[in-house]
Amino acid sequence: MTINRRGFVGAAAAAAAGVRMPGAFAAKSAKYDLVIKGGRVLDPARKLDAVRDVAIADGRIAAVAASLPGDAAETIDAHGKLVVPGLIDIHTHAGRSKEGAELCLADGVTGLIDAGSQGADRIGEIIAVAKAAPQPFRVLINIGRAGILPDGDTMDLNRADVAAAREAIHGNREMIAGVKARLSRDVCGSNDYEVLRRAQTVASLYELPVMIHMGQTMSPLPKLLGLLKPGDIVTHMFAPPPNSIIDDNGHILPEVIAARRRGVRFDLGNGRTGHLRWDMADAILKAGFLPDTFSTDWTPEARTSQVINFPNVMSKFLMLGMPLDQVIARATVNASYAFPVFRGRGVLKPGAPADLAVLELREGSFEFEDNFKNSRTGRQRLFPSATVLAGKRVAAPS
Ligand SMILES: [Zn+2]
Repeated sequence: MTINRRGFVGAAAAAAAGVRMPGAFAAKSAKYDLVIKGGRVLDPARKLDAVRDVAIADGRIAAVAASLPGDAAETIDAHGKLVVPGLIDIHTHAGRSKEGAELCLADGVTGLIDAGSQGADRIGEIIAVAKAAPQPFRVLINIGRAGILPDGDTMDLNRADVAAAREAIHGNREMIAGVKARLSRDVCGSNDYEVLRRAQTVASLYELPVMIHMGQTMSPLPKLLGLLKPGDIVTHMFAPPPNSIIDDNGHILPEVIAARRRGVRFDLGNGRTGHLRWDMADAILKAGFLPDTFSTDWTPEARTSQVINFPNVMSKFLMLGMPLDQVIARATVNASYAFPVFRGRGVLKPGAPADLAVLELREGSFEFEDNFKNSRTGRQRLFPSATVLAGKRVAAPS
């Protein structure tokens, strides 16, 4: 079969204009695997907030445009919903259960970190769970070799075992993304400074970030911050005194500001015990010290209490007055910078991995609880509606 030049130009022009061609030609123009149609696309990395179609092919974003021809293998109708980059949760304990990663995925979480559930002794168990997860999943090794213990991970300083952690990382470079140091009084007592020093010793050997769990420490926070390097993460940044990031007069500590300036990240870490109190959040946000990232500190038990899911955690900051695009940024693109495994994610530009969350922003009256049984009512709440991972729609949440 030959095609004359005039006909070829005509067909190309028609295709460029999005005109459907009849017959055999129409089948050829079905070039997308999936199109998410008519949603409010919120992509903070590109400052986009508009009704758009998102087309996906070969596991990547193919196009984002006001209107795309509907000839895709599958479509998701997103009218009235938000379409955002897949959520990235940098502080979870999803590795504690086999189902954790899939439960988070149904909530829109297309990348996650287990932050220190296990130490060197049983790191293999959590790595096996992470490897089996459908989405990118990495782990932070707890510097306490026995992981999280009810009577304190490193209350016995011998458990902060540099050699054991080093060996564990050496054998699992692909899966271990950093080192976790839990520094509360009930986790390590007065060992906090030495535990963090040892965590840094291990991390520096492999150029990994350290995540510290702050709040209710015995050492003053500025002393601990002095040990943090660029790229390290402070989680539970809204923890109340003793040793919060803000003083009684509503001033962020100068050492906290200096740490951020040199590249230390500050993270929410919602959790359920002692980390989030509304009056602290009010004061810290009022002082203009916004979190770099949101995270849930997710556990299976938290699905029914306080945390519920990542969109619910994000909704608390809508209630606290943060604009929607800023809320989305902290759960997507900002989080993508925290660990190399997420680089290039958290954005909906053509060519990027097609990980997306479709969320519903409902108006109404919604109760949110902090970690101290204080309840507040918000007017909006985000709910998961659909998740796309590597270009494929995953099962809808039940
Ligand atoms: Zn945690």
